[in-house]
Amino acid sequence: KPNLSVKDLHVSIEEKEILKGLNIEVNGGEIHAVMGPNGTGKSTLASALMGHPSFEIEKGEAYLDNNNLFDMEVDERAQAGLFLAMQYPSEISGVTNSDFIRSAMNAQREEGDEVSLMKFIRQMDEKMDMLEIDQSFQHRYLNEGFSGGEKKRNEILQLMMLQPRMAILDEIDSGLDIDALKVVAKGVNSLRSEDFGCLIITHYQRLLNYITPDYVHVMMQGRIVKSGGPELAQKLEEHGYDWIKEEIGIED
Ligand code: ADP
Ligand code: MG
Ligand code: MG
Repeated sequence: KPNLSVKDLHVSIEEKEILKGLNIEVNGGEIHAVMGPNGTGKSTLASALMGHPSFEIEKGEAYLDNNNLFDMEVDERAQAGLFLAMQYPSEISGVTNSDFIRSAMNAQREEGDEVSLMKFIRQMDEKMDMLEIDQSFQHRYLNEGFSGGEKKRNEILQLMMLQPRMAILDEIDSGLDIDALKVVAKGVNSLRSEDFGCLIITHYQRLLNYITPDYVHVMMQGRIVKSGGPELAQKLEEHGYDWIKEEIGIED
């Protein structure tokens, strides 16, 4: 079973400390949601784990299985089975969506064990059907002229094709209408298995109506300040974040 362990993580950007001792552990078979007000460091967590060069790891550890993520290059993290939606560039001129996904799949396989074209086409057809993505998107240039919703669906297509051991999905629901949201949720739900763990970062509870998390964590001021089950997300939807601030005694 995959395991992601983040321990006492401190991360800064431009000398400013954003993550201040963050702990989280995600196992295969589990979906965790991280929620929190804007600017609390949710995306910083995703960027730090992906190895974004602007973010300085000041202290702490992050392991995927027995691999120390902070000792690995970005592509090595992907090879170890970590998927970050944001690791994919927004646009690459001259590379079709289909070529891009196929080379990303092959990059995480051993040499000589490349995915066959037939198998690749069959899988793409099946998954594009499920995500209601038009076949023409195979031959479009990656993300060029994609609408916001098309980009999100395409990220989930990449996720489904790559079948990572652990995925970190930051704001996959932003800007989606309800139909697109359901499709995206269907894709993520289809991946649920003991061999797959998922960390969903979201500002809104809405997505969690369609992807029921096993654990919900609230992040404030660079730390996880409260954890619970799916009912916690419901309570946040109804009452906002102020009651948690009072409970733990922090000010804005
Ligand atoms: P969230 O995703 O929870 O809304 P972020 O992780 O995006 O929060 O941001 C946390 C804090 O880090 C914010 O105060 C934000 O302004 C700051 N920050 C994020 N990225 C940068 C950056 N590239 N340069 C400077 N400050 C940044
Ligand atoms: Mg933000
Ligand atoms: Mg964010």
